[in-house]
Amino acid sequence: MTYLSVSSRVAAVRERIAAACQRSGRSPSEVTIVAVTKTHPADAVEAVRAAGLTDVGENRIQELEGKVSTIGRQAVRWHLIGHLQRNKAKKALELADMIHSVDSVRLARKLSDEAAASDRVIDVLVQVSVSGEETKGGLVEEGAIDGIAEICSFPGLRVSGLMTMAPYTDDESLIRTTFRATRQLLDRAASVDGFEGRHLSMGMSNDFEVGIEEGSTIVRLGTVLFGERGA
Ligand SMILES: *Cc1c(COP(=O)(O)O)cnc(C)c1O
Repeated sequence: MTYLSVSSRVAAVRERIAAACQRSGRSPSEVTIVAVTKTHPADAVEAVRAAGLTDVGENRIQELEGKVSTIGRQAVRWHLIGHLQRNKAKKALELADMIHSVDSVRLARKLSDEAAASDRVIDVLVQVSVSGEETKGGLVEEGAIDGIAEICSFPGLRVSGLMTMAPYTDDESLIRTTFRATRQLLDRAASVDGFEGRHLSMGMSNDFEVGIEEGSTIVRLGTVLFGERGA
């Protein structure tokens, strides 16, 4: 992987983001690219930094830890985007600037307890699953507002918004329906005490333009920046 190819891929992605923003009357400044470097070496992080990106995502704590120790805790904003086990909550707090994958009230409580114990407040997104696909993880739509309200009551968390994953499909209308329902859930959650609702983390390499058209503020991109991951 050369710096050159990554920087031209970043440029191409920025153009696609700008076009999606144009179609939906939004500004590209509202959309943050999180470069998902999982399975790639730390060089991938250096390459996206060289291309001007400031946010990097990993889906596993162990790999996040390796990247942070190589690249530096303050060098970029680190995002944890994959399922987190409660016994790794403390580690996650040390390593991540934002946790996208708060997928249960139990995990939220544990993160809040650990954050409060070290006098911190951590930025989180509540992961929701509105597609009916149980494998995706996250709060299901029914009862989601109650769950979000409980999570917002925990003092160690700043609940900045929602994260979701669309079903993996070529059916754009199904993807759009999922993203739109997530956006509507965000709007409904606006009345919850303590819910900031500034961010919608939705959109990956195959569906980020639809995500932006439906209101995404954070797109999590791996393949489109670095190519296919090895098996
Ligand atoms: C791997 C991953 C991504 C990036 O996926 P690509 O399709 O390679 O862009 C985004 N979000 C999560 C949660 C992931 O695990």
